[in-house]
Amino acid sequence: FDQLAATDPEIADIVVAELDRLRDGLQLIASENLTSPAVLAALGSTLSNKYAEGYPGHRYYGGCGEVDKAELLAIDRAKTLFGAEHANVQPHSGASANLAVYAAFAQPGDQILAMNLPHGGHLTHGSKVNFSGRWFNAIPYHVDKRTELIDYDEVRDLALTHRPRIIVTGATAYPRLIDFEAFRRIADEVGAILWVDAAHFIGLVAGKAIPSPVPYADVVSATTHKVLRGPRGGMLLCRAEHAKAIDKAVFPFTQGGPLMHSIAAKAVAFKEAADPSFQAYASSVTANASALSKSLEAEGMRSVSGGTDTHLALIDLRATGVSGADAERRCDAARITLNKNAIPYDPAPPMVASGIRVGSAALTTQGFDTADMTHVGALIARVVRAEAGTDAGDRELAGVRADVAELVATKPAYPHHGR
Ligand code: PLP
Repeated sequence: FDQLAATDPEIADIVVAELDRLRDGLQLIASENLTSPAVLAALGSTLSNKYAEGYPGHRYYGGCGEVDKAELLAIDRAKTLFGAEHANVQPHSGASANLAVYAAFAQPGDQILAMNLPHGGHLTHGSKVNFSGRWFNAIPYHVDKRTELIDYDEVRDLALTHRPRIIVTGATAYPRLIDFEAFRRIADEVGAILWVDAAHFIGLVAGKAIPSPVPYADVVSATTHKVLRGPRGGMLLCRAEHAKAIDKAVFPFTQGGPLMHSIAAKAVAFKEAADPSFQAYASSVTANASALSKSLEAEGMRSVSGGTDTHLALIDLRATGVSGADAERRCDAARITLNKNAIPYDPAPPMVASGIRVGSAALTTQGFDTADMTHVGALIARVVRAEAGTDAGDRELAGVRADVAELVATKPAYPHHGR
């Protein structure tokens, strides 16, 4: 860090300010986490220099002996951790991994069956503003209006009607377990590829806190930086029969040189996730999300679907009269970082939204327990209720900011990391 500060003090200042931001506030973005110093060290290593197009043992460049070892470790650890027949650890991100799934299994114009974006799906699942919606014919399925759970009858009906090439499940804002077996049955009935996008919850699978999609899916895509707590990046797990198609789809079809520093950092994260302590962490993540959801319910803020089985909860704010956008802004002012989110069948436009999404992974990494999360819920409720633009409201926000400072001082982020 001293060298960075000497060469580029502007960037060094930003790095320090970001670390302060992490330490001073509550991080509740469901897709974020706090990676370990070991992962950060691999990310900041000289492996970043190496060009290594191809795969271990079959590269288009010389000098790949060391990075080959790193990639083989990452592959072997991923296969063992998830019980997968094949792993590809090269995707630069979750979206890159998903692009490779399309490349491996579909042709432009093919039909795909995917969860509607406002009901929790991801942009890469057929949104019109994404390549997936422009190049493929995406048929959306929904959650049931009453239960707010995936409507499996509708999924089956749509599959039988449209005979999609790919069925995708896995979401960005769905708090419940997904019935992978039901999806497998439907995919088999219509001869579709079953793709599970486990970007959000693969860390819970690694920690054995929720069931694994690997035995059911033809292919599982994932990110490595969410609950899994590794570097920013993507990966793919698949059956041996699809290994060649997946590898070719990643390189040379959709990517060039792999990010070897990131692949090494993924190997570190997989090793950390194989440690028994990771199972304790993963079960705390779900217990903490549930405690937060219950605390907000007690404050009159409904959890979509009535609760959560995972690391995230989706909170319907309509009873408070405050929009998701306003809640996000006010929480920001109180150093509580979360995001506005559409709720299923949301009457408000997406940039306003009637809900917020809260996740428990980063705070769990810091050591927060269920009592702390109950406290966090009460703080969020105070912020949402604080009357905006009034002296009393401003005083309440200042009061919450002070309480946040007190809370994070007991369990700080990166306690042993210098500046
Ligand atoms: N798939 C799902 C379900 C996601 O939630 C996300 C990111 O939030 C992605 C894919 C994309 O991952 P990335 O941001 O690494 O491209």
